[in-house]
Amino acid sequence: MYHGLIYTQKCVLGKNYKRHKLGYIAYKWETMQIDAVENALFSVTVNPMLKELISRFDIECPVDGSLLLNSLKDFLGEPVSLCPTCQHVNRHIAKPFYEIGSRLLKADKDFMRKQFVKDKYGGAWFKGFGLMMRGVRKYGIRIPFVPAGPFEIVWNFTYKCNLRCKHCYEDAGVGKLPELSTDEAKQAIDILSKIAGIGLPALSFSGGEPLTRKDFFELAAYAKKRIPYISIASNGTLLTKDNAKKIKDAGVDYVEISIDGASSAVHDEFRGIPGAFERAIQGVKNCVEEGIDTCIATVLHRDNLAETEKILQLAKELGVRFMHFNYIPTGRAKEHVELDLTPDQRLHVLHAIGKEIITLYLQAKEEEMKTGKSNIKVDRFFSTCPQYASVTKELSQQMGHKFIVEAHYAAKKGVENVANFLGGCGAGRLYCAIEPNGDIKPCVFFPTNKNTVLGNILRDNFEEIWDNDPLLWQLRVRENLETYLVDGKEVGCGVCPDKYICGGCRARAYSYFNGNVKAPDIGCIHNKVLWEKITGLRR
Ligand code: SF4
Ligand code: SF4
Repeated sequence: MYHGLIYTQKCVLGKNYKRHKLGYIAYKWETMQIDAVENALFSVTVNPMLKELISRFDIECPVDGSLLLNSLKDFLGEPVSLCPTCQHVNRHIAKPFYEIGSRLLKADKDFMRKQFVKDKYGGAWFKGFGLMMRGVRKYGIRIPFVPAGPFEIVWNFTYKCNLRCKHCYEDAGVGKLPELSTDEAKQAIDILSKIAGIGLPALSFSGGEPLTRKDFFELAAYAKKRIPYISIASNGTLLTKDNAKKIKDAGVDYVEISIDGASSAVHDEFRGIPGAFERAIQGVKNCVEEGIDTCIATVLHRDNLAETEKILQLAKELGVRFMHFNYIPTGRAKEHVELDLTPDQRLHVLHAIGKEIITLYLQAKEEEMKTGKSNIKVDRFFSTCPQYASVTKELSQQMGHKFIVEAHYAAKKGVENVANFLGGCGAGRLYCAIEPNGDIKPCVFFPTNKNTVLGNILRDNFEEIWDNDPLLWQLRVRENLETYLVDGKEVGCGVCPDKYICGGCRARAYSYFNGNVKAPDIGCIHNKVLWEKITGLRR
């Protein structure tokens, strides 16, 4: 809506190119990210060879099944039995490939073994790695990388909700639109469990309120038998003791409960129903009592910003994780765009959360140095702002350490070096969304319309969409991110040194730039001048 009104948009490959070719190339070389250089080199040199190499062992053996998956297991130290032909290919092609590849990707092999083979969620990690390998075969090595299918899908399971939250991206309520039936939902789960011939590692039920659907427990249990990691995002008000037990029995691994204030006055005002806070807090306690990994999720905005520290404290007292949700003007939140945080306010929030996770990281490191191991859980405080990677990197550097929250969900020790590959915003790359009627979108925070719906999980071929959809490819290529000339200065994610670990929230870009997913995320402190210009237009 604001696009092009007052700014001269300037592509990184600017028009001075012809007049000052040599000078321009020198300028580009100085300012270009090393990752952009690597991407260019990969595409012409390494990738054709890699694709050819992987295709030699990404084969289906009539005796042993998928050699890609079997060779992965073997590389990670799991016992596999292979026919003589597969044994030969595995020894001479797959194994050396994995050895060299993991070194090039700077992936810690010990860490990988621990996660894939010993961890309770090894199945999810294993599928994730399988998707990554098949992604390299299909699309080559890229920064950030593109797996052959998403690692996680968030399924907006229903349009129904018993609350009336101001910021609901789904604009949920009485739920008048058609949704998948129980049988159709099972068909969808069957399809997801076979994505790219590997299967989806993680599925999250969101909404609307997923617990308003009577078949939720049946479908969650059905999904858990086919997909290794199942989670639910709930408003918490229906999480009675009985329902918390049913969630546990269905095999749900993780519950995220929305809490938008440290008191009922703030929470209920935003959620639209009196008593919502007390019931949600009781829901958190019921899940903790059941021994479920639980998290409180908070959308921070202008009216609850002052609660930030109190909510962090609440999470500590309740013994649960904390997830900050970025305010994105979409769905009902579009009607309250004035609630969005300024770049300075967002930075304040990210500092507050970042300090919590870095403190845990340093405590764990110290304990490890003293005793050889640590049981401190580091992955407790997160933000869905992709800038969280940039902020945690800077904060930890100030303290003389190297720690980055890689994507906006991952903070695993042992993968510090792969931040650029994970790449911050994962929309349409590491993750995508499904609507209650089965429509597929890059992210739940994108509005639902003819430009954002990529197809339908029951009617269309997911793999074809994932491989070819132009919107997905726009979201995946960081070199395409745009810059704007503001007061003679180039501004935007396109010129940001952190674009490969962050990339800006593409849903926020869509929202503020009238559907332009390559535009800058103006909520970032680096794009503050754009924020001022654009919000100034509204006044
Ligand atoms: S300018 Fe864009 S890419 Fe850089 S940190 Fe900000 S949001 Fe992320
Ligand atoms: S667009 Fe990217 S950063 Fe924004 S919410 Fe979606 S996945 Fe997260």
